[in-house]
Amino acid sequence: SVLRPDDVQESRLLLPVVAEEQPIMEAVLLNPVVVVCGETGSGKTTQLPQFLYEAGFGSPGSENPGMIGITQPRRVAAMSMAARVAQELSLTSSKVSYQIRYDATVSPMTSIKFMTDGVLLRELATDFLLTKYSVIIIDEAHERSMNTDILIGVLSRVLKLREELWKEGKEGAKPLRLIIMSATLRVSDFASNKSLFSTPPPVINVAARQHPVTMHFNRRTVSDYVAEAIKKTTKIHTRLPPGGILIFLTGQNEIQGVCRKLEARFGKKVIEQRRRRRGAGSASRIFGVDDDVSNEAQNNPKRVGAAQADVEAEDLELGETQANDVAFDVDGDVEEDPDALDSDEEELLNEELGIDVDESETPMHVVPLYSLLPSDKQMRVFLPPPTGHRLVVVATNVAETSLTIPNIRYVVDCGRAKERRYDVTNGIQTFQVAWISKASAAQRAGRAGRTGPGHCYRLYSSALYEHHFDQFSKPEILRMPIEGVVLQMKGMHIDAVVNFPFPTPPDRNNLQKAEKVLHYLGALSKEGQITELGKTMSLFPLSPRFSRMLVSGQQHQCLPFVIAIVSALSVGDPFLHEEALLASADSEDDDDEAEKLKHLTSAAVRTKEALRLRRKQFFASQHTHSSLGGFTSDIFRVLSIVGAYEYAGGGAQFCAEHFVQPKAMEEIHKLRAQISNIVQTNFLGIDTGFVPNLNPPSDLQVGVAYKALGIAEDVFIHPSSVLFKNTPPEYLIFNEVVRTSQVWLKGLTVINPAWLSSLDGWELPPIKAEHP
Ligand code: ADP
Ligand code: MG
Repeated sequence: SVLRPDDVQESRLLLPVVAEEQPIMEAVLLNPVVVVCGETGSGKTTQLPQFLYEAGFGSPGSENPGMIGITQPRRVAAMSMAARVAQELSLTSSKVSYQIRYDATVSPMTSIKFMTDGVLLRELATDFLLTKYSVIIIDEAHERSMNTDILIGVLSRVLKLREELWKEGKEGAKPLRLIIMSATLRVSDFASNKSLFSTPPPVINVAARQHPVTMHFNRRTVSDYVAEAIKKTTKIHTRLPPGGILIFLTGQNEIQGVCRKLEARFGKKVIEQRRRRRGAGSASRIFGVDDDVSNEAQNNPKRVGAAQADVEAEDLELGETQANDVAFDVDGDVEEDPDALDSDEEELLNEELGIDVDESETPMHVVPLYSLLPSDKQMRVFLPPPTGHRLVVVATNVAETSLTIPNIRYVVDCGRAKERRYDVTNGIQTFQVAWISKASAAQRAGRAGRTGPGHCYRLYSSALYEHHFDQFSKPEILRMPIEGVVLQMKGMHIDAVVNFPFPTPPDRNNLQKAEKVLHYLGALSKEGQITELGKTMSLFPLSPRFSRMLVSGQQHQCLPFVIAIVSALSVGDPFLHEEALLASADSEDDDDEAEKLKHLTSAAVRTKEALRLRRKQFFASQHTHSSLGGFTSDIFRVLSIVGAYEYAGGGAQFCAEHFVQPKAMEEIHKLRAQISNIVQTNFLGIDTGFVPNLNPPSDLQVGVAYKALGIAEDVFIHPSSVLFKNTPPEYLIFNEVVRTSQVWLKGLTVINPAWLSSLDGWELPPIKAEHP
């Protein structure tokens, strides 16, 4: 039996999933596969593992001693859910554990293991029967990530094998169970797919307790959705009753920018200052700020009770209601409107309504949420805001279904998300901000209706939504070339990839293309079987091209460098750019800075001067690192920073001084260690020691259009590149494509034209052998 803390005991009884414990467990015990559908926040992720645990799963000596494994598409979710379930069950992190690519708390004692789907896929390569597990839960299956789809396909076969072994009476063999969980009811690809499960699995729908959410579309779709999000949030905060606001944006930079601006307008300090400046009345206002604010909120005549909120929201025209909007947009004006007519109209409206930012007496408690945020900071979204503060969470789509943030009443949805995409024609990876699907938009809106009636402000027109949003997002497997997955599958000896029971089968051509790329890379034989090189490549948690780079690095005796480079390329660009620079300028605790600026009296001058100094340091640091390789390569710049970081022994101080993201650097470090470790344990006698030298900087000088293989438009060197201000080299190689109004190349390296002759089809050019 389990011991739960009292508050947990109480709040879990309110979760819809808990009311269905009995039918769910009955289905699980009677069927090898069960599908569970339930709205986000209904308790699937936190409660299902506990039901299983209480029924004896994962406990030595029971019927089902194997671990309970739960997969998550995102690392944030794997870590925070493990922590939450451990807390709910009053168990340690070695009993309820997580494993992600860089980090793990698993032990021989582990009963419940949360992991990313990639981790389980790699485990399958070494233990195809998953002998350590008695049940696997595939969570967030509605997202249709490539890993999830592959896992479900593979597991359908593992279940059969485990059952056969058990029926044969093989020593210690037990059947494996599979639970597929989805936040939507769209599960027919799993539930009625005969090639996947010959007996259709039962589908249990957990009734959701969802309150009504009123939709407000923008009359027009403005392109500057970040500014629009701030404006909308400002209005909600100054005019509408208490309740958390959840803002969906696309990435870290946007989120940091918005947090900073909201903090500058409505942060606790600013509100206090404003109040003091106004010399506002009683002593309690100056001293007991926190308590005071809640009184203030109650006494403020502009505040209205919850029951009136709906009416007020309409009256204030924070956005058009759907019905009105259709009328306005009927002219087919569905494209983005750079003239942003709305802004002027809104200014006028502001004046009419007398909205004055200075009016707000309630401070905001602004919390960012994105996956590169350190985990302790991520957990802040679950804490109640200080008394009298309004919680404002600025998040990526991690808050769409993976994490349920309590007490959200207003959702501000930019309607976009950053997507990792591959250009199917050339296999090049890009990151693009794209429109979300209607299903995603509904999920986002739903976040406002968990605790009571809510409002969702969509920063796009209803016409755009109607005509340009897909009903559902396409399964990832249909959007990407699948070399990495095909290699993994080949490594598991699934040779006839074309016959694999995919929930949604990808295009046969793409499967064949992936096999071809892998053949070019040397990972597959002509007959499509995995080669020794391919097996080596599949050992690395990297895309096949990166794994292949490691092999070239070994051949050219520069493996340590290539490991460092590949780690950095896999994690992503660690360098901070302009936006983040501003954010770090107002971080309080830089004593050195304060010392240097002591003679400046005016706060404004001081801030400006601090920013100027930061900028100077920023460019100096960029210059230093770009000089490795003589300003010819972004890849060498990354190598330089990784080397310097390792020499300094890492640390927050180093990252601040060199303008890099601590979490990215930490992950590069861990991945580098992990790859080195794989190399050392698998290939004896190879030294992965790491001793880079930094060359002295040299001086060079501006942007021309390039032609890239497989890309129709002209392409340009991204401003963040080392090469941006240099004499444009004749030839370049690139790692990443960013599409905005133009096509930009990132991760650049100048190459010697003579090398081109040795380039053959998909083959990678040799890595420069001499010491950089
Ligand atoms: P689902 O998986 O169905 O979306 P979850 O099991 O994730 O639902 O969440 C159930 C409830 O548990 C939600 O109300 C959520 O806010 C709460 N919850 C989850 N994690 C935490 C946490 N770390 N701290 C506090 N509450 C949490
Ligand atoms: Mg969940």
